[in-house]
Amino acid sequence: MAKNTAIPYKIYLKEDELPRAWYNVRADMRTDHRPLLNPATRQPLTVADLEPVFCTELAKQELNTQDRFIEIPEAVRNFYKMYRPSPVVRAYCLEQALHTPAHIYYKYEGGNTSGSHKLNSAIAQAYYASQQGLRGVTTETGAGQWGTALSMACGYFGLDCRVFMVKCSAQQKPYRKAVMETYNATIVSSPSDTTAVGRKMLAANPDNTGSLGTAISEAVELAVASEGYRYVLGSVLDQVLLHQSIIGLEAKAALDAYGVQPDIVIGCAGGGSNLGGLMAPYMGDRLAGKPAPYFIAVEPSSCPSLTRGRFAYDYCDTGHVTPLAKMYTLGSGYIPSSSHAGGLRYHGMSPILSQLYHDGYLDEARSVRQTEVFAAAELFARVEGTLAAPESAHAIRVAIDEALKCKESGEAKTILFGLTGTGYFDMAAYIAYNSGTMQDHVPDDEELAKGFATIPQVE
Ligand SMILES: *Cc1c(COP(=O)(O)O)cnc(C)c1O
Repeated sequence: MAKNTAIPYKIYLKEDELPRAWYNVRADMRTDHRPLLNPATRQPLTVADLEPVFCTELAKQELNTQDRFIEIPEAVRNFYKMYRPSPVVRAYCLEQALHTPAHIYYKYEGGNTSGSHKLNSAIAQAYYASQQGLRGVTTETGAGQWGTALSMACGYFGLDCRVFMVKCSAQQKPYRKAVMETYNATIVSSPSDTTAVGRKMLAANPDNTGSLGTAISEAVELAVASEGYRYVLGSVLDQVLLHQSIIGLEAKAALDAYGVQPDIVIGCAGGGSNLGGLMAPYMGDRLAGKPAPYFIAVEPSSCPSLTRGRFAYDYCDTGHVTPLAKMYTLGSGYIPSSSHAGGLRYHGMSPILSQLYHDGYLDEARSVRQTEVFAAAELFARVEGTLAAPESAHAIRVAIDEALKCKESGEAKTILFGLTGTGYFDMAAYIAYNSGTMQDHVPDDEELAKGFATIPQVE
């Protein structure tokens, strides 16, 4: 393509250009990440081990290191067509406001009703559950984005959906609950008296306001105890990164059509799924020895798993019912301070991203403070029009910082970042920022040491 083809504000693929297969980066990784381990026997997990908890096809995807491309089932592609492709937007107005020579693009995933990229995996997971003839699925939700996405997906395929929602979050976000119930999901505040784990927590402290770790333990317990149910998860797992590769495949196809090659790719990283998905095809280039962008993961300074965590086998949940994964972690006992980016408050990081970071393929991880993140979100809302989710605003912050560096150096670098969601359900966070009551928290080494002490000794 001609280099100086005028770039429109929004680039959309046509329906017949949409990806037909997900890209499994694991097939191209030089060093595969270490296997998931059974927490009791510490032996590598097999599909048979995973089947009582996960849908069979998803268990297979979780352990698939061979197939570079995995076909997207037609029913999932048809659902994608209702809200995809998501646009790649050239942030002309932000460039102007910053007086930067940089070219800034973002891939916006907040345009569907659930409000984030999580729907991309939710619909795939619900599809495989319905194909298996299951009655329903269970899950947990913290901030609520995953629960909402899964409710939509289950509503579409007629599956029962049980969501354990962290109690304090359920109280703070009644509208999230209302959306989920509209899609026919059942929301249970966690800890609840419907599971043994929940009853134990409540007996110890009736005022327990819940945690993601407890909600996971409750959801797994219910799935295993109920005929025709399985447990599903919205991030961290390899299968989720696989489904989220749709983000990067679309972005790359759209930019390739205009001859645009990003120099820098930026994504916020909670469990690692949106960044893993956005960078997937570009990482494929890197792994094949071709020219590729510089990759940056952005995390909150209050939950710095990549920048300050340990690369070790750890539990994926506080209740220690889930497998052990080799990942960057702050320890499953680490309790991040309450922050407004609920989707980034996870103690660990995707094993794929962790391995790529460890091996130097994911170039950099950067941690940023909440108030500087909201300053970036505010500027972005004013000049680009979109009110971003607090999680997504972490990527905006670093995109702006990189664009300002270009202003200093005079380089016209091309920056692509992931704008993962809308901030409509996070108005409490914007209220805190606007009223000046938002605080930054950077844990000291002592605080981190408490979390590290909960990492098991495995080698
Ligand atoms: C969940 C979420 C994230 C973080 O999760 P990843 O798995 O790291 O992508 C980021 N942004 C939004 C809007 C989310 O809902």
